[in-house]
Amino acid sequence: MKLSKRQEEILEIVKQEGPITGKQIADKLSLTRATLRPDLAILTMAGSLDARPRVGYFVNEERQMKMQAAEFTSQQVKDYKAHPIVIQKSASVYDAIVQLFLEDVGTLYALDEEGLLAGVISRKDLLRAAIGNKNLEGLPVSVIMTRMPNIVTIFPEETLFDAANKMINNQIDSLPVVQKADNVENTYKVIGRITKTTIARAYLEIAEMNPV
Ligand code: ADP
Repeated sequence: MKLSKRQEEILEIVKQEGPITGKQIADKLSLTRATLRPDLAILTMAGSLDARPRVGYFVNEERQMKMQAAEFTSQQVKDYKAHPIVIQKSASVYDAIVQLFLEDVGTLYALDEEGLLAGVISRKDLLRAAIGNKNLEGLPVSVIMTRMPNIVTIFPEETLFDAANKMINNQIDSLPVVQKADNVENTYKVIGRITKTTIARAYLEIAEMNPV
């Protein structure tokens, strides 16, 4: 919820001085109790403030944290996904390493001749291939990548909670965001990526917008 300036001021006063009565808050802001009433109602309904008769307004931090968590887990992947960094599966391991550095990412998605998802290449895949292998320019990434149907994917309508779950459960750092391709089972177009950094950044954004 985006708060108005006055609502933010009220929240700050309650945080510092709660429990505090509506009248006392009004006095501090040099406003009347009646002017403040709609803002207090909104903040109470939204769960930012709690009110108890004869005690006043106070901040329920536990409830705020639960709301933050709920807001975070319900966000959809499509609103947070980043641009996918792709490479042709016929490209060499050498080219993949160069692209990984140029694009400053940890994972590349390999595409087949039709532009559909064929594989995932991570930092460790490239390091493993580089150990004891002198001809990295002659080695196609298709030989070392994790292939379909073993790729863990995510759809744009799934949530950040689903994404975090899949990454942790499968011990991977990123997920290709995909769209089904023309009715053939297990064929996907790559339309984005979600990484552990995406999840951490989304969490911070949501925490900043819903301050405890
Ligand atoms: P790192 O190389 O830094 O450990 P990951 O933990 O993401 O990166 O990758 C570990 C292994 O899992 C690699 O072999 C990689 O190919 C594979 N992998 C990465 N992402 C996925 C994914 N979305 N689905 C299936 N396998 C993946």
